[in-house]
Amino acid sequence: MSENAHHKVIIIGSGPAGLTAALYAARADLPPLVLEGLQPGGQLTITTDVENYPGFPEGIMGPELMDQMRKQAQRFGAECMFKIATEVDFSQRPFKVKTDDAEYTGDSVIIATGATARLLGLESETRLMGHGVSACATCDGFFFRDKELIVVGGGDSAMEEGTYLTKFASKVTIVHRREEFRASKIMLKRAQENDKVDFLLNATIEEILDTDDGLSVRGVVLTDTQTGETREMACDGVFMAIGHVPNSKIFNGMLDMDEQGYLITKPDSTATNIEGVFACGDMQDTVYRQAVTAAGTGCMAAIEAERFLAH
Ligand code: NAP
Repeated sequence: MSENAHHKVIIIGSGPAGLTAALYAARADLPPLVLEGLQPGGQLTITTDVENYPGFPEGIMGPELMDQMRKQAQRFGAECMFKIATEVDFSQRPFKVKTDDAEYTGDSVIIATGATARLLGLESETRLMGHGVSACATCDGFFFRDKELIVVGGGDSAMEEGTYLTKFASKVTIVHRREEFRASKIMLKRAQENDKVDFLLNATIEEILDTDDGLSVRGVVLTDTQTGETREMACDGVFMAIGHVPNSKIFNGMLDMDEQGYLITKPDSTATNIEGVFACGDMQDTVYRQAVTAAGTGCMAAIEAERFLAH
């Protein structure tokens, strides 16, 4: 347990947004408590090479990048604890944040709990994540040059990621469980007009098949939802594009959020509807969802928290 139950800044979450906020708060002489959450380091810890984070011309492994960010924040006094925030009370100051075994108080709170890519829930999907299975085309598409890929989903993300992946892949098959699409007409049309994109409708993925060494994907087992027929289809990679779920459950009823559960922040700011509570990263970003944009809003949140505390 942290020796100090009270902190000027408490940060909930430890992805690029949370750790950048921690770095900036610590350097502003507001050494924060960082409650790291279920997946310390966040979504980047489930990717392999990160090649689009500036400053690493040769790329860097996701877990290593997050380790470096944590060390950098700790160097200036951030206190990172492998704890999960289970309950918050923002109704009065100091704000309260509870974990399983403790209660912390903070003069300000920065929320950086991120979003989790929705997954199919298959054991093979978890095992092959980062080894042919991905939930981020921008992060991992580059590794599939001249390969055949499957993109799962029927929304804008699936159309966008499917179209994007044709920059690298020789063929992309969008596998969707229905015949109707959630995607907007324009995004769907763009995918349909792309020669490298095929569609497989009324199909679900039952299993992802790996190569003998267990390090890459060789295909999937599909079920036709209309006939019930099951068959194998060869491919080199599977991209999940079935939506994201913001990790905002514990803020229900406390903070303003949209109908999908994303926290609403004031324009050009990370301020939430409660003064002194800020939100950054994927938890409030339905548009970009990149590590570098998350880090950017983490920086904003720390600067705004510092100004709030100064007043
Ligand atoms: P979405 O609109 O919720 O679509 C998710 C898709 O995944 C749906 O087609 C859904 O099928 C399918 N799906 C969900 N769970 C599944 C499961 N367990 N197995 C198989 N399929 C499953 O999510 P999104 O595409 O990520 O988009 C989220 C929001 O971001 C939307 O508002 C979208 O417009 C926006 N967005 C915008 C852009 C853009 O404008 N550039 C790009 C990306 C996203 P069903 O249809 O059968 O439910």
